[in-house]
Amino acid sequence: MIEEVRSWKKTLAEQLIGKMEARQFEAYYCETGKEAFDKACSLMPEGSSVTCGGSTTLKQIGMIPYLQGEGGKKYHYLDRGLAKTAQEKREVFAKAALTDYYLMSSNAITLDGELVNVDGVGNRVAALCFGPENVIVIASLNKVAKDAKSALDRVRNMAAPPNAVRLNCGTPCTVTGSCGNCLKPGCICADLVVTRFSRTPGRLKVILVGEDLGY
Ligand code: SF4
Repeated sequence: MIEEVRSWKKTLAEQLIGKMEARQFEAYYCETGKEAFDKACSLMPEGSSVTCGGSTTLKQIGMIPYLQGEGGKKYHYLDRGLAKTAQEKREVFAKAALTDYYLMSSNAITLDGELVNVDGVGNRVAALCFGPENVIVIASLNKVAKDAKSALDRVRNMAAPPNAVRLNCGTPCTVTGSCGNCLKPGCICADLVVTRFSRTPGRLKVILVGEDLGY
């Protein structure tokens, strides 16, 4: 990363951290995905129960195999990938509400420090809003948008279409590349959630990352 960009990202992150702390989020800045990985691990004591929402960012930083126990089992990881039936998946999503730590990314972040997320099934935004004792959000600065409206615009036109392609949703955006405001069975934009405050101080822990990650 060239020095001017590094300095600009640090300044942007510092501004966002101030805005997030006013919202009772804990917030941190890491330059790289590797540093963000280490920071997230340092926030979770060994032996904690942990699960996560579907996230390209978490995959890119190598979090999933680590939680699964690669290199030594450190957490009680509730692995939704092991659910074989719809009922088993439902049970995993329900048990997620009682975990110590829930890891996820955010689809977007506003310049005012709000988290903006869309979800198809709703399990990820449900955990963000209520349930797990702590939620760790790892999100790159490439997801920052001016306000909630532009954040939603970004999510539905930049983030959701590649996700819908990846998940083979059969929605209009998988054909046109941009949002068709669909009401299709495979729609991944069923719930649009803006998180503007945490009633429990520090429950939401946001790790901003300078390196581009996710969509
Ligand atoms: S077309 Fe449907 S699934 Fe695709 S971005 Fe728009 S609302 Fe979401």
